[in-house]
Amino acid sequence: MSKQKVLVLGAGKSGLACAKLLGLKGFQVFISDKKSAKELSKPLPGNAALISEKEAVLKAGIFSFSVKSPGLPNSHPVLEALRKNKVPVKSEIETAFSFSKTANLIMITGTNGKTTTTALCELIMKETLKGKAKAYACGNIGYPVSEAALKAGKDDFLIAEVSSYQLEDSSNISPRACAILNITPDHIEHHGSFKAYVKAKEKIFAGQSGKDFCILNRNDKNLLSSAKKCKSQVLFFSIKPFKGPGAFLSGEKLFFNIGGEKFTIPKPAFIKGLHNMENAMAAALCAISCGARPAAVKKAFAVFKGVEHRIEFVRQINGVSYYNDSKATNVDSTLVALKALGKRKNIWLILGGRDKMAPYSPLVPLIKKYVKAVLTVGEAAPIIEKSLHKAAEIIPSGDIFKACDKIKDLSEPGDIALLSPACASYDQFENFEQRGKKFKEYVLRLKK
Ligand code: ADP
Repeated sequence: MSKQKVLVLGAGKSGLACAKLLGLKGFQVFISDKKSAKELSKPLPGNAALISEKEAVLKAGIFSFSVKSPGLPNSHPVLEALRKNKVPVKSEIETAFSFSKTANLIMITGTNGKTTTTALCELIMKETLKGKAKAYACGNIGYPVSEAALKAGKDDFLIAEVSSYQLEDSSNISPRACAILNITPDHIEHHGSFKAYVKAKEKIFAGQSGKDFCILNRNDKNLLSSAKKCKSQVLFFSIKPFKGPGAFLSGEKLFFNIGGEKFTIPKPAFIKGLHNMENAMAAALCAISCGARPAAVKKAFAVFKGVEHRIEFVRQINGVSYYNDSKATNVDSTLVALKALGKRKNIWLILGGRDKMAPYSPLVPLIKKYVKAVLTVGEAAPIIEKSLHKAAEIIPSGDIFKACDKIKDLSEPGDIALLSPACASYDQFENFEQRGKKFKEYVLRLKK
């Protein structure tokens, strides 16, 4: 019997991993991409054939199903041809899960906080499984679900960070536990409307049943209405006390109420801000509903250092604490960092990079409250100087390294130096990771 033919659209990291998985599962795999084999940065998996998008349109009818790269617009000609030929289009995550030996699946989505929550949940599950089985964080966190799904054995856990792009094409997923951390307007250009974006996120729980758990933010209006559509058991988390199953923050403790059991756990030791308490509660509730005990959560909370480049503590020099928040590539994220670290007017804030054409004015109230001076860097410096000059002293600095030198000279013990640029990094760096790494290297080399 000849092999079934499948088409993987897009030869990105997840597309190539999925092509490999499908090849190993006995399919004849075709990959279409706008790039030629020469232009692709990675070699194709052994038995896959690269075809042009034109060819994919012409051949559309021969495929049993297709796997879509999350970035592709729905109006893409290959997708139109597939739809015309009634070829099912699936996401990479759904395809990967369907071939995995394990049904132990935890999925985490939300507009913000996905990576942090996924990383913490993985740590709790590792503590829970303690070598008896493995926990793999995968998906947007940087490890394709297709690779993790191939590796995972029957008792292992997959903890997947998933975006609305991946969920949009996932109609057959049934995680044992899933979380939606928050939903605020984002990616509207792709989904077409906020309603469609919410609908894509809600697919995370659409295939669940009564034995599964859906973890939702009680302080998010959109998610309160999503809860009504769940067939699974809803657990809420909140930064304010409430009655009912889930978790809330009160003082220095997180209170849990799940499966008739009530217990408290001290707040995580190293991650800061209310947003991170939400992430911590969501991670814990996902893990607990999959068998984690409070002791494992407690242990993970005590050691979790957060994720690199997200309000990451670097070092203290002469009593001044330096933080790397290079992932803050927009104004909203910088607001979150100021809220998390702000206690009094002691922050030296490094802002700038490539401007994103969004106003900086939402930063004004918190800058007035918590910021001693704004150090501007990169292309966006003149725009930031113009919009914030009334809110704080502005120190034009050119780049993040000169900004560090200035902070070192001007600051006093108890101050905070914060790189939370509210801008993209591409004017002076390859990406936010490189910006954060260079910042840390420089700070670690600074002399007292
Ligand atoms: P994601 O993977 O969804 O981008 P991250 O965990 O990488 O999320 O965090 C990215 C940024 O989003 C952080 O620097 C922080 O500013 C902000 N953030 C993180 N968690 C939350 C949350 N629960 N609510 C609001 N903002 C958050």
